[in-house]
Order: sequence, then C-alpha cells, then structure tokens
Amino acid sequence: MNRIGIIIICTFFIFNCNTSAKQAAKNVITKEANLIPKMYVIPLGKVDKQTIAILVKGIEKFYGIKPVIEKPIPLTNDLLAKSGTRYEGNKILRKFKSNRYQLFITEKDIAIKYRQRNSEEWGILGLSYCPGTTAVVSTFRIKRNLKLFGVRLQKVSNHELGHCLGLNHCSVTPTCLMNDARGTIKQVDKEEMKFCVECKKKLTDYN
Ligand SMILES: [Zn+2]
Ligand SMILES: [Zn+2]
Repeated sequence: MNRIGIIIICTFFIFNCNTSAKQAAKNVITKEANLIPKMYVIPLGKVDKQTIAILVKGIEKFYGIKPVIEKPIPLTNDLLAKSGTRYEGNKILRKFKSNRYQLFITEKDIAIKYRQRNSEEWGILGLSYCPGTTAVVSTFRIKRNLKLFGVRLQKVSNHELGHCLGLNHCSVTPTCLMNDARGTIKQVDKEEMKFCVECKKKLTDYN
C-alpha cells in the first residue's frame, strides 16, 4: 500500500520512502530497465494521438516497459484549481491514485499551491507521488516549441516516473534527468535522458 507522504512535482524537494519503491527497484543493478513491471498511460480529456505515441516511446526506451494505453478519462470540474482556469495536480493524483503504475497525460495546464513562492496556482510540468505509482504530466507548458516537444515530453515523463521509483531531486549533476525543473522548460533542456551515477546508486540502494 502506498503511503502518500509528500507529493512531489517538478518544483519539489521533500520526499519520504516506503516499500513500494523498494519493491519496484528490486533486482536493479545499474539500469533503468525492469524497474517498472507493468504500467498504464491514461489520457485526461482529449489528448493528441501522436503525443501519446511519443510519450509511450519515451517510457519504452528508458524503462524498457511498453505501457498499456487506456481510454481517456474526462477532466471534470472537481479537478479544477481555485481560479477555474487550470487543473489542480494534487486533486488529479488524489482522485486517481492506485497501486498500479500509471501516468496520466493532459493537454490542459496543471498547477499546485506553492507557498514558498506565495503562489496559489504555480504552473507545473508534472506531478507525482514519491515514492508511489501515480503521476501526471501536462503538455501545456511544453508545446511552446514544437521542434523540441517530443524530447521534452519524454524527459518530463521519465522524470516523474523517477519520483515514483523513489528518486528525490538531484543536486549533484546538472545534466541529470532528476534535476528540479521548477516548472520551467529551460532546465529540462539542460538535462540528458539519463539518471546520473548518484541517482542510479540511490535506486540500487532500495534493494
Ligand atoms: Zn521533479
Ligand atoms: Zn542525479
């Protein structure tokens, strides 16, 4: 059973550990492959088919698992943030939380409350339980550059799944995929599609 300790986003810091990540990371030595036994990609509202294909390809390449694509789930008003113009990432995670690995994808903007920045609705790229099994990614802030869209989407998604596997934000290696993007795509562009040595070590430490 997952313990929802602290929810992690691309603007986060605090994490806790539990057994789900330990189990997920079992038998891992140095590779990202085989960390996730089975997973699902679920569109929230209308999501372009090509976007889903890019997302799935990124997960497949990085984690060595082909996600099952499920039918879209509607984005309902109960998931809206206070302003009514964006959706609240925490509400999405809470509503759809499950013990299976699942990544929700939406084209709508998602946000969280960010006290440190005095913001009621801080726009984010993605949000996930850390550790846990549920994550959500939004293409809203990624789509501004069509040329880089694919690789950005894949980095953000694989980053969020890294949180699910128990990885904290990385402050050791500037190019590590687990750096804190703080809701901006600039940082994502600096990253490579890989976990640094330190982050990989953390994954193996779960064994
Ligand atoms: Zn993050
Ligand atoms: Zn790292």
